[in-house]
Amino acid sequence: MKRLTILGATGSVGASTLDLVARNPDRFSVTALTAGKDWRRLAELARTFRPDHVVIADEAAFADLAEALAGEPVTVSAGAAALAAVAREPADLVVAAIVGAAGLPPTLAAVEAGIPVALANKEALVCAGSLMTAAAARTGAALLPIDSEHNAIFQVLEDRSRVSRIVLTASGGPFRQMPREAMAAVTPAQAVKHPTWSMGAKISIDSATLMNKGLELIEAWHLFGVRPDQLGVLVHPQSLVHGLVEYVDGSVLAQLGPADMRVPIAHALAWPERIATPVERLDLAKIGRLEFEEPDRERFPALALAEAALAEGQCRPCVLNAANEVAVAAFLEGRIGFLEIAAVVAATLEAMDSRCPESLADVFETDARARAVAQQYVTRVKQSSFAGQRAAG
Ligand code: NAD
Ligand code: MG
Repeated sequence: MKRLTILGATGSVGASTLDLVARNPDRFSVTALTAGKDWRRLAELARTFRPDHVVIADEAAFADLAEALAGEPVTVSAGAAALAAVAREPADLVVAAIVGAAGLPPTLAAVEAGIPVALANKEALVCAGSLMTAAAARTGAALLPIDSEHNAIFQVLEDRSRVSRIVLTASGGPFRQMPREAMAAVTPAQAVKHPTWSMGAKISIDSATLMNKGLELIEAWHLFGVRPDQLGVLVHPQSLVHGLVEYVDGSVLAQLGPADMRVPIAHALAWPERIATPVERLDLAKIGRLEFEEPDRERFPALALAEAALAEGQCRPCVLNAANEVAVAAFLEGRIGFLEIAAVVAATLEAMDSRCPESLADVFETDARARAVAQQYVTRVKQSSFAGQRAAG
């Protein structure tokens, strides 16, 4: 029996994980479940999956959650410190499925406690990947990627020293074929409608800007230890080939599967074994052909910004991520337009001197400063012609 702690249990990855847990009651049990704000859903999940602990990040929701679970055999706590503490509780695997840099402290806490981590929370790696991989090397905690592309690479990676290139595929998002001018008017509802995957709002917007693929390049760099110039992106609108590894002899190994997150999650949960999933099977004869194209960095500048941050290293990815979190939230709230997401990130990167080495204190400090700078640009976008200037530049 594998005992699981699921950080971010009420989200999209959390739901797919719990679906697999429910289908495999002989294999998995739940030690702890956490959520950001949604105490009702967390209470429901606690009644179904019977964890020992639940934690809600939002302290204002503690009283409601505690009342909803009164009399149940579960400890209830709230706040950031409780979140990190529960991640250290004995478990066989921590599923890191919080969205954003908020997931960094508990995810790092699990790794530091030597607990294997099934990692969906890419922002944690983008912000503090060197700290995370160093802690994993020190404690021996495995980092098992859940992100579909990285899980694909993990499945086909043999001898790292013989790898010549790693390629992540991207669906291209809902605006793959849209002229840049038309993107100025797209709404949050259009942007979250992903063509092939069903996911949380933030990653769906990141997929529409291609920032998601940029974050994933940084994630891959930390996970697989290749040089930045060995990492590539290929647009593959069907989302059936998830990642490819080219070796020095010219062989290319790829992983294919339906666009259902339960496939990579099942792989990470059961690793090094495999479990059955109920997902639709690939019918390649019916699909007929697989399509690929180059990404367009002019229409999707977020990808180029992330590639530059990866090449510059140090705290640049942390700035990129923080500014992007602020900009995506502002877009979802209708405060800035779609094109201004990358513009706010670019302006924040330009404004900030952030070539500090990566320590946890640096990461938190840089993250907070970058959020403040990005907020200023968000406000400026609303008030002035900043948007037009940035879009034209
Ligand atoms: P989601 O928005 O659906 O769920 C996020 C979860 O995090 C929820 O449980 C929420 O309550 C919790 N949360 C949010 N803010 C929090 C905070 N400040 N403190 C503590 N908890 C907080 O997101 P998702 O789509 O499930 O994505 C989760 C992570 O997995 C992201 O990093 C995303 O990039 C990555 N990922 C998701 C998918 C997918 O298919 N959804 C695929 C690959 C990678
Ligand atoms: Mg992905």
